[in-house]
Amino acid sequence: MRIGCPTEIKPQEYRVGMTPNAAREAVAHGHAVVIQTNAGAGAGFPDEDYIAAGAEIAATAEEIFASAEMIVKVKEPQAGERKMLREGQLLFTYLHLAPDPEQTHDLLESGCTAIAYETVTDAAGGLPLLAPMSEVAGRLAPQVGAWTLQKANGGRGVLMGGVPGVGPARVVVIGGGVVGTHAARIAAGMGADVTVLDRSLGRMRYLDDVFGGQFKTSYASAGNTIELAREADMIIGAVLIPGAAAPKLISRAQLSELKPGAALVDVAIDQGGCFETSRATTHQDPIYDVDGVMHYCVANMPGAVARTSTIALGNATMPFMLALADKGWRKACEDDPHLLAGLNVHAGKLTYFAVGKALGLDV
Ligand code: NAD
Repeated sequence: MRIGCPTEIKPQEYRVGMTPNAAREAVAHGHAVVIQTNAGAGAGFPDEDYIAAGAEIAATAEEIFASAEMIVKVKEPQAGERKMLREGQLLFTYLHLAPDPEQTHDLLESGCTAIAYETVTDAAGGLPLLAPMSEVAGRLAPQVGAWTLQKANGGRGVLMGGVPGVGPARVVVIGGGVVGTHAARIAAGMGADVTVLDRSLGRMRYLDDVFGGQFKTSYASAGNTIELAREADMIIGAVLIPGAAAPKLISRAQLSELKPGAALVDVAIDQGGCFETSRATTHQDPIYDVDGVMHYCVANMPGAVARTSTIALGNATMPFMLALADKGWRKACEDDPHLLAGLNVHAGKLTYFAVGKALGLDV
């Protein structure tokens, strides 16, 4: 199969759909790989690395879309890219169709077959192509929160680990899923005093079993949440209710009860945020102040560490990409129900129930 990987064109997107290692494996499986020139530059992969892996370099996205049987990307295709998709072509990338009727319409019209990273499942009931980005965002959260806490950035001027004779920062993580667990581990590793709040007792049992010595857990009742928040130097929002907007767990009125200069890192901002005062920010201008409390609400946190994120995503997508290339999408999906769960669009038809429900379209 001929596999094409164009340069990402969404603003501030520096990741790339295929690493040189993924290209090397595909070539070893007998496939042809074509990468747009400089597609990997933002993630630290020059064209030479792809050439050494056996890939071809194309000057334009048009050449790639015209010749490749499968397109591998990171972000959903932008309007110009969607015009280049064609009948029978396979698209493997993040799509997030439910809130995006225009993209859905264009994909249906193109006649392509589109497999969405975010709906591929695994045997444990998880989302294996979404998890790496939650791991990245979770591990990044205490790092950006620590920066936000610095005095020059409007924060309380508190050092995460303290020093001998001075206590550490208190960090509260709301939501103990993938983001929350990784955030708590890193915050604890920086020496902070960390408590994770969750509503799932099963999840808290797991966290206590595995991380009992490193951080504490507490049930996320409204009372516990505000009580711990009052004492916190940093609060990391990491909740998710699948398919729903994030619940607001700290209201504007409650900000006055928090410590002045406390840092709120709202990782759940991509689902609307879990603090009432959260609004999405960018890497260029990531923080803002509401009532003396500093908010960090970047919606695409993994973009800050494009190289790590690209490699992590590539590790997760590679086996699926190879299965699709080796067997063709139909046989690969027949053999693997978890990959089949990623099928969102085929030959002008929507094939993913939740997207159809959200957009009022037949599935
Ligand atoms: P997850 O499903 O692994 O974990 C969510 C956790 O929240 C679960 O343990 C659940 O029990 C808990 N929860 C739900 N409601 C709660 C409540 N009211 N109080 C306390 N806990 C509650 O999800 P995840 O992968 O960790 O993702 C968390 C959020 O981070 C999602 O909104 C995701 O989209 C977002 N995210 C954002 C970025 C970014 O760049 N900003 C990157 C990756 C993920």
